[in-house]
Amino acid sequence: MGTYTRSPLIFVKAKGSKLIDIDGKEYLDFFPGWGVNNLGHCHPKVVSAVKDQINKLIFIPNNLYHPHQAKLAKEINFWSFDSKVFFCNSGAEANEAAFKLSRIFGQGKRYEIIAFNNSFHGRTFGALSATGQEKYKKGFEPLLPGFKFVELNNLQTVKDACSTNTVGIILELIQGEGGINIAKKDFVLGLRKLCDDKNILLIIDEVQTGMGRTGEMFCFKHYGITPDIMTLAKSLGGGLPVGAMIASRKIADTLKPGMHASTFGGSPIICRAALATFKAIQEEKLLTNAKKMGDYLFTSLSKLKEKYKFIKEIRGLGLMWGIELEKPGKSIVEFCFSKGLIINCTHDVVLRLMPALNIDKKKIDLGIKILDNALENANPR
Ligand SMILES: *Cc1c(COP(=O)(O)O)cnc(C)c1O
Repeated sequence: MGTYTRSPLIFVKAKGSKLIDIDGKEYLDFFPGWGVNNLGHCHPKVVSAVKDQINKLIFIPNNLYHPHQAKLAKEINFWSFDSKVFFCNSGAEANEAAFKLSRIFGQGKRYEIIAFNNSFHGRTFGALSATGQEKYKKGFEPLLPGFKFVELNNLQTVKDACSTNTVGIILELIQGEGGINIAKKDFVLGLRKLCDDKNILLIIDEVQTGMGRTGEMFCFKHYGITPDIMTLAKSLGGGLPVGAMIASRKIADTLKPGMHASTFGGSPIICRAALATFKAIQEEKLLTNAKKMGDYLFTSLSKLKEKYKFIKEIRGLGLMWGIELEKPGKSIVEFCFSKGLIINCTHDVVLRLMPALNIDKKKIDLGIKILDNALENANPR
């Protein structure tokens, strides 16, 4: 169906940060898979894990066991907090699971969830109801009741929105689709305290910020807090479809057998791919590289900001960057595509760069050169 605005490019092969189209033209990918390919395309560790598993066991339903799901849950635990994991297939589905757990936790008395303006949590009805952007919701009403929207980085508006019915607060620490808006540390510490005081669940959506994207395995590590629930998807499977809802051990058992399910969730191949992803991030020191290359990218982008007055602000962390312009960025993205660089524009005016965590200086220099060209081309004289 025509649900996507597509660019007329057909890709047939990829490796690392290089994409190859049907005519053999090469592209440098600075937005691999909308945040799915944090390892770059076709990472050898993911490829060999999947190849090995596909010959052994492709699928087993969740009323039976296979060895890799528990291993993956253990790995997620190790990098996050003492928790249990529910596996599903996408970010929206992970957030749906978080909302269902929250409702059960609220015992039929508390059901309200506070979310933020400009947030994005997915396209299914629950996730859409939690999304603070009208353009995604228009025409699909009535949505799920019980969601309230407040301003990011304004603790008072959150406190004012809290009622005796409030059971959860959901946020992205860096809003991805909303234009790379960063939650401030004091604000997040304030949310944590508010949630502790009122027995409210702090739900962190790490679907886009997770798996090393910001230079830590999970973005909440930058803040010195622990969420009650964290949701993951996008890059968790190294390119394969997976979602996960991670809940602290104290609350995870509120969901009892039979209360929630997902047929394909946590299947053997997916778990092997996700385990290989964790392994690659660790063995190849990609968190350190993301921090280093992130600093390098920021320095390069700052030079562009000095050069082009229509750049308003450069925002980001690790390898997740937004370049806010004073005008729409669509034509700049198209110019970059034509010169062999894949980037993204979100929220109309924010160019978004999220290169693979294993990017190097040489590739960043090349990408910046093309971007410089594109900005020059768009520069009003
Ligand atoms: C992409 C995204 C989602 C939705 O994930 P899907 O896998 O497309 O359902 C949810 N939250 C955030 C922060 C995202 O970036």
